[in-house]
Amino acid sequence: MGRIVIRTAWTIADVGGRQVPLPEHAIVVEGDRIADVTREPPRDAETIDLPGGIACPGIANLHNHTINGPLFRGIVDDLPRRAIGESKVYSVLMPMGSLAMTWLTEEQRRDLVALGLLEVLRSGATTMVDQFRPPQRVILELARDWGLRLYGAPYLFSPAKTIADPTVARATQGSFEGASGLDAFEAMFREFDDGERGRMRVILGPHAADSCAPDLLQRVDAIARERKLLATIHLAQSQGEVDRVAADRGMGPAAYMKSVGLLREGVVYAHGTHLTDDELDRIADAGAAVANCASVFLRGGKSPNFQRFKSHGVRVGFGTDAERMDMFAQLRATGFASKQAFGMGDAATAAELLQAATAGAADILRRPDLGRIARGMTADLLLVDAMKPHLQPIRDPVRTLVWYAGAADVDTILIGGRAVVRGRRAVGLDEPAIVRRGAEATRALWDEAKRRGHFPAEAEPAQP
Ligand SMILES: [Zn+2]
Repeated sequence: MGRIVIRTAWTIADVGGRQVPLPEHAIVVEGDRIADVTREPPRDAETIDLPGGIACPGIANLHNHTINGPLFRGIVDDLPRRAIGESKVYSVLMPMGSLAMTWLTEEQRRDLVALGLLEVLRSGATTMVDQFRPPQRVILELARDWGLRLYGAPYLFSPAKTIADPTVARATQGSFEGASGLDAFEAMFREFDDGERGRMRVILGPHAADSCAPDLLQRVDAIARERKLLATIHLAQSQGEVDRVAADRGMGPAAYMKSVGLLREGVVYAHGTHLTDDELDRIADAGAAVANCASVFLRGGKSPNFQRFKSHGVRVGFGTDAERMDMFAQLRATGFASKQAFGMGDAATAAELLQAATAGAADILRRPDLGRIARGMTADLLLVDAMKPHLQPIRDPVRTLVWYAGAADVDTILIGGRAVVRGRRAVGLDEPAIVRRGAEATRALWDEAKRRGHFPAEAEPAQP
């Protein structure tokens, strides 16, 4: 069994359930496990030395759509509301995503996904939950080959006839031809799911409360319970969605989830932005979790915030929802959104944010062996190079990480004891080629989207 000794100036270790910075400790990794956190490591092992560095537990990105990173870069920023209608999800994002599935060649689609996934690999996330359209199964192949820890959730949708709003029905059906996606889920589950302690999981990903009817969601609940799988769904993402659920189902989003069995532990709601205080209390009681994606909403002028979810006792972790996939940038945006919303500098502290992003998120994923640096845990961790002008001196390494570091400061990433990033390079990948080819595929798609009118005119750069 391979043994690696990691030496840094600081180790953010799990001590009694809290993330505690220990100075001048070493982490001993044996196989895929952390064998020890000690001042006196064995001398006869391969060593990773990062003088002045910080060892940070692996961070989980609980909600992402990897291809949307490159696909919407520079397009969805600075958009006025009139450009995107009531919900940009259905008017801009989904038609473009649909085009990526139907118009790109298989090779171009692979290039696009690889570009997004390379960004994810270097983002500080050692675990990611990604919701994607079934034709994009290449994300599973790439994550498996690159050694990433992925919870892949192929989208499920109800057939258009059961969804009243024609915009929603049209946008969500783009690449499905009326199928729910359950067959595609089953095929991917058979091929890629590694089981309860595995690195690759295929989980249930019904799209949203307004695009999935009760029969589909009940089926999701049954499969999830039977196979002990997680489920994730967009919930209360926009007021429009809440209104449509009220019109179609005669209840609010949380009650709708309860009615189909999905108000419970093991279910992760993306966003929850428009949930009422009462609904948040019910979600907290039921043990369901929220993936808080602050920056994608801040971009549009809204501020869903961690502190609000937390004050109701909701289990909450963080997702990027493809608004930059830098987890450190996400934590910072999340913290600042909370501080602004509550008018309190001590809302959403660095310690609270890091705990939620690492150990808290791991618990939400039913993997208490992740997100913690301690003896016996799975060796998912990051080494941050802190010998940088924007990171020195260090008074509290947790604050240094959350408020001052960025993904570009990550020197090394271990997933399951294996280095996937080393010396700020993705191990075994031709990064320049991935970047070039991914950008080419994306540009080709943009041109086609313009021809078809899926491209908001306001997304053209302003003329000076
Ligand atoms: Zn999303």
